[in-house]
Amino acid sequence: MAYQLTSALNITIIKNLYILKEPVKKVLGKHRKVCKRNNKKRIVEVEDTFYYIPILLSLQQQLSSPRLLLMIMTAEAQLHQGNNAIFTDFCDGTLFKKHPMFSSDEKALQLLLYYDDINVCNPLTNKPHKLCLFYYQLANIVPIYRSKLRSIKLFAVCSYKTFKRYKEKAMQEILEPLVSDVQLLGRDDGYTFTTSLGQVKLRGAVLAFLADTPASHASAGFKEGVGGTRRKCRHCMATFDSMQEYFEEELFELRDKDTHEEHLCSIENAPSQYLRQYFSKEYGINQRSVLCKLPYFDITKQLPQDIMHIFLEGILEYEIKLCLNYLIKDQQVITLDKLNYEIKHFPLGYTDEKNRPILIKESDLDMKSSSNLGQTASRMWLLSQMLPFGLENCINVLCPQWNSFMTLQEIMSIVFCSEISQVSILYLKSTVKRYLSNFKATYNHMNIIPKQHYLVHLPTQMLNFGPLIRCWCMRFEGKHAYFKDLAKKIRNFKNLPYSLATRNQQMESANFIQIGDNQPDMHPWSKEDIRFGNYTVLRGDHAVDAESYISRFYDIHLDFHVQSIFQCNQIEIYGTKYKPGLNNFLLFSLDDAGFPLFGCLKKIWFIEDNGCYFVMEVFNTINFNENLNAFKIEAQELASGYEIASHSQLKDHHVYHSYRRSNERFVVTRANVLACE
Ligand SMILES: [Zn+2]
Repeated sequence: MAYQLTSALNITIIKNLYILKEPVKKVLGKHRKVCKRNNKKRIVEVEDTFYYIPILLSLQQQLSSPRLLLMIMTAEAQLHQGNNAIFTDFCDGTLFKKHPMFSSDEKALQLLLYYDDINVCNPLTNKPHKLCLFYYQLANIVPIYRSKLRSIKLFAVCSYKTFKRYKEKAMQEILEPLVSDVQLLGRDDGYTFTTSLGQVKLRGAVLAFLADTPASHASAGFKEGVGGTRRKCRHCMATFDSMQEYFEEELFELRDKDTHEEHLCSIENAPSQYLRQYFSKEYGINQRSVLCKLPYFDITKQLPQDIMHIFLEGILEYEIKLCLNYLIKDQQVITLDKLNYEIKHFPLGYTDEKNRPILIKESDLDMKSSSNLGQTASRMWLLSQMLPFGLENCINVLCPQWNSFMTLQEIMSIVFCSEISQVSILYLKSTVKRYLSNFKATYNHMNIIPKQHYLVHLPTQMLNFGPLIRCWCMRFEGKHAYFKDLAKKIRNFKNLPYSLATRNQQMESANFIQIGDNQPDMHPWSKEDIRFGNYTVLRGDHAVDAESYISRFYDIHLDFHVQSIFQCNQIEIYGTKYKPGLNNFLLFSLDDAGFPLFGCLKKIWFIEDNGCYFVMEVFNTINFNENLNAFKIEAQELASGYEIASHSQLKDHHVYHSYRRSNERFVVTRANVLACE
């Protein structure tokens, strides 16, 4: 499908499109409070409100960008499709392929919704203000732009105090206006947007609702605190006892759209309050969620488990705590002080230093504490990678406790992949079964917690949604920092939801304003893709040499009268900072055996219109060390000359750092690069 936008680009963008309306105030109810006026106490009625940013207007604003419009009209995010056995994005998943709208209309808007609470501190009073934030994102945007915070949009904000006052009702009412708007998008003739191509009718539906377990359960009408309820899972009818016994998805009675409807009817039509409560408890359902009204939405499938909350703020803490208690208290092979020394002095590269785990306190190891060992999700992830190196000298790698921890790492390395094959998904299924059975055998006095049970559903979720990293909450949580920062700048905490929503709208509009007709299309999320450090222009022989090097790998012919090669000491692309250095590695290719090939980054060259080229010294990948969960690498004895890779050619965009063990060097990859083989 070829859409000629060249002439359309020259159309003056209608300024009105950029000016968003104020956020809409919605009233949840009223409450009375005592107020002091003129030294007299009075009882006044106060409105309890939240603010909604109409999603159709927000979409209209986004669609005024020709770049985004082109991306949607040409279904750019789906262009990679071809190999049915490899999953790289939502569109490869079964849910998408069988979805009545997405499977038949490649232009349909695919909405990802997200909800979470944040704490914002008033710097003047130190008083915390808790807020509920609701975001959305278009999955039509290609993944590399989806990882940019500017592609995530606010659609509702409410103070937590108000939210708690109305509990379930609040959640349902906050989602109600969004659901109504999405119903308009879901109609057969779609909704008309004004774009640079003229009036365009687009349909749309919600692809997934993303949140942590309590928030997912609250929004979908399931019982919120899974610890105390009979049914622990929104995908199946698992109880505490069945969770301890069965480790395969097939052994559970799965929920689906029809059974869910039957459960709701039993609760709603129960002849007495007693029976209503009985059914509600029996099915683990509180009420019919407003999300059930979304077009083509299956509440039992489209609220996937979030891998950040399951692993980085859940199972890892549980597993590491049990393992450390065993090593420190039972076996006494290491002390907590020694472990903390290792954590403090572990040689980390520049990309990991900001996530260095904080020291673990004695109280964190208490099985009753839920401090996530004092770590954030990113620190926890890094801690799990460092532990095999830090503990290697004092553990018996064959002991079942260590084996359990390493099997969990293996599961994570598959689950966190951005590309995955069907074969790897099947392997994941057997690994989950092995992990849970071994866990129960090793720690027979401990329970399988709900987050561990959710593992049995991950292979099916990967088949449904593609790689789960595409729908993880980590990116959305990154957006919170923006709102925390905005609150500090505004310094108006009187009605924080209103101030934040309004200021956010103003900033969104300002981002889109372009002056003149011939400006290049700069959608907010395509701005600042590249940031340069210091650079020099290569001249004379240096420039000729560089060109000849690059031309061995890429077909380039430069005219040095008009083009220059810049050599950069640092470059940041899509948020990843690349710096040449002895311990900075890039994964540029896979060898014949499927092993990753790493190159030590020596130089960075940039050519305008051609992009960025990394100049690397290739290291040999010797083997995969299962005890360290890392690849052993070695410098080549006979230097084979530099390897050159463009940014887009890299297998992934991380910068890796090697860890030394005596004279050997190892690189840990978070995701299993073999999972797509
Ligand atoms: Zn389940």
